[in-house]
Amino acid sequence: MTGEPNSARVPMAGRPCPACGRPAVHAYRPFCSGRCADLDLGRWLDGTYCVASDEEPGDDETPA
Ligand SMILES: [Zn+2]
Repeated sequence: MTGEPNSARVPMAGRPCPACGRPAVHAYRPFCSGRCADLDLGRWLDGTYCVASDEEPGDDETPA
């Protein structure tokens, strides 16, 4: 914070949209558009993000 007049106004500058990877827009941060924001929200509600982990159950009972 020692000489950044514009950067301080653009916190999302350089941060890509988590949905598509495009430059995010301040109005829809951290997304690039309302569409991506909605899309991402849908994933959350769907529970897709819950399995975005490297942790996999080693001994799970596989049903036939
Ligand atoms: Zn996007």
